[in-house]
Amino acid sequence: MKDKGFTTRLVHADRTLNQPQDGAVHYPTCNSVLFEYADVNELVDVFQGKKLGHVYSRSSSSSNSALQNILNELEGGVGAVTFSTGMSAISSAMISLLKQGDHIVVSQFLFGNTRSFMDTLINLGIEVSFVDTTDVKAVEAVLSDNTRMVFTETIANPVTQVADLTAIGQLCVTHNLLFMVDNTMTPAYLFDAKDVQASLLACSLTKYVAGHGNVLGGAIIDTGLYDWQQYPNIFSLYQKGDSSQWGLTQIRKKGLRDLGATLSPNSAQQISVGLETMALRIQRSCQNALRLATYLHSHPKVANVYYPGLADHPQHFIARELFKGKYGGIFSLDLKPGLDLNTFLNSLRTVITATHLGDTRTLALPVASTIFYENGPQERSKMGISDEMIRFSVGIEDIDDLVADFEQAFAKI
Ligand SMILES: *Cc1c(COP(=O)(O)O)cnc(C)c1O
Repeated sequence: MKDKGFTTRLVHADRTLNQPQDGAVHYPTCNSVLFEYADVNELVDVFQGKKLGHVYSRSSSSSNSALQNILNELEGGVGAVTFSTGMSAISSAMISLLKQGDHIVVSQFLFGNTRSFMDTLINLGIEVSFVDTTDVKAVEAVLSDNTRMVFTETIANPVTQVADLTAIGQLCVTHNLLFMVDNTMTPAYLFDAKDVQASLLACSLTKYVAGHGNVLGGAIIDTGLYDWQQYPNIFSLYQKGDSSQWGLTQIRKKGLRDLGATLSPNSAQQISVGLETMALRIQRSCQNALRLATYLHSHPKVANVYYPGLADHPQHFIARELFKGKYGGIFSLDLKPGLDLNTFLNSLRTVITATHLGDTRTLALPVASTIFYENGPQERSKMGISDEMIRFSVGIEDIDDLVADFEQAFAKI
């Protein structure tokens, strides 16, 4: 299947990669928590990692393995671990791989809850530098002997800054650092993580991967580009066998198993089903987002539109290279000062006022008063977030209906 196109591989992944029995076309959901072995020697071998198998479904189950196989195949990696949410994937991976006295470099434009989690890492004695990852020099300037990792998102939310992923990837190779990328905004269909030398991918499956706003999930995928023999924090217990697996083994044991944020087998199967149409949905979302952003850019009631697909976006050309000629499904705008943001949002009919993104439906959210409320006015202004800002996650509706909805809502303000 490796020579086939993206969606062909996806819709046939269960048959070819996971090979369910009895002619089942979907890999079946298995809800058993415990697993029986007729020979106790086999049970012991599975416990000791000498043989593949499942012993307790907090650590692994066949439904999770089936989803992990597909996610890993799409990235061409060496393995994947799934979690109950995107946040648990990020936090479990970082807690497993970092220790007191380590330094990490992270984007100053992080997803709000990831930004909040950084304060927990700081409390645990990890040094965190927040830098502008659109500028590789800002990353390079803060590197030191105890730097272990650089972490950034691909397209930041809500202002849509695009990280200079190619240059940062090169910098990480030069300095032998882990390069962890949150690709939630641009999953495999839009972005080839190995092209930018990313070592670990963190993804919220809740968003574009599952796609329908009815299931939570997260994943860590190892691209295989990082040499874990160079990483100082791998427990000696896990420095055994194939070194390409050391990092993921530690994330599985210290992260998934010990912290316990396991994805339920039902959710894993639901995500696998949603995943099959990911390319179709993302294609349509990106196309709709570009049409809407272009229309709003010249609208008399709009002050600014933030979308990488617009020629005046500071990283427009970088985005075009990185994301295969597409620019994602998220944009934000500032209404002209004096216009009533709440009346505008309350007037939208097709567009839903809700948090969340990467859905089949178009969603709108006032940013300063909701997801970035905890950050306070000073930090918001540093992040480029105005009080008039609305974030849109563009869905797959028919474009004329979306434009008409904006028009009638603008007429009310
Ligand atoms: C939503 C999101 C997360 C967290 O994912 P959950 O599944 O909601 O926990 C992490 N990173 C980014 C960029 C996100 O958009």
